[in-house]
Amino acid sequence: MGTRVGVLAIQGDFACHLKALYSIGASALEVRTAEELDQCSHLIIPGGESTTVGKLLQRFGLGEEIQSRARARMPIWGTCMGMIMMAARVEDSEQYSLGLLDITVKRNAFGRQVHSFEAPVQVEGVGEVTAVFIRAPVVTDVGSTQAIATFDGQVVAVRQDNLLGTSFHPELTGDTRLHEWFIKEIGSAQRG
Ligand code: GLN
Repeated sequence: MGTRVGVLAIQGDFACHLKALYSIGASALEVRTAEELDQCSHLIIPGGESTTVGKLLQRFGLGEEIQSRARARMPIWGTCMGMIMMAARVEDSEQYSLGLLDITVKRNAFGRQVHSFEAPVQVEGVGEVTAVFIRAPVVTDVGSTQAIATFDGQVVAVRQDNLLGTSFHPELTGDTRLHEWFIKEIGSAQRG
């Protein structure tokens, strides 16, 4: 299969990821069903509301489909809510998550009042990016994953083979280096 990046389009800011992907000439697809997932080589789980998306993933059985693709080493990237959805453990919550990344996340970690802010963050393998945080989670236990970015002493990006999680929203900046890196670099973990 050639490269085609699916963006989970149940809820949240999937349209911004699609725009970023189209701007770099990538083939991309909105994913709401297992059939659509089958047409993709990569998957992005966007920002949004993790409790809502978790319920819907369970209800439609799409969560299990994503878990089986992850086991088959599909490159999967979760941004903000997407990283929460990929986490094995969510602090102080019984909510559903996919359990793909061996991490514990804390939701709304910068305080509910601090709705949104931007900061320069150094991402290993990519360089400095402007990170947009929107009621963002942080990783409080990296487990067996590799921390690839920190902000204010807290882990805000992790990698585990074919899996990538970022607390922030690279799709909102117009800087597409992370999307390109995900497609090329995380995508190559699939074959390794
Ligand atoms: N706070 C949201 C959640 O916990 C995530 C916010 C986001 O994706 N921008 O689901």
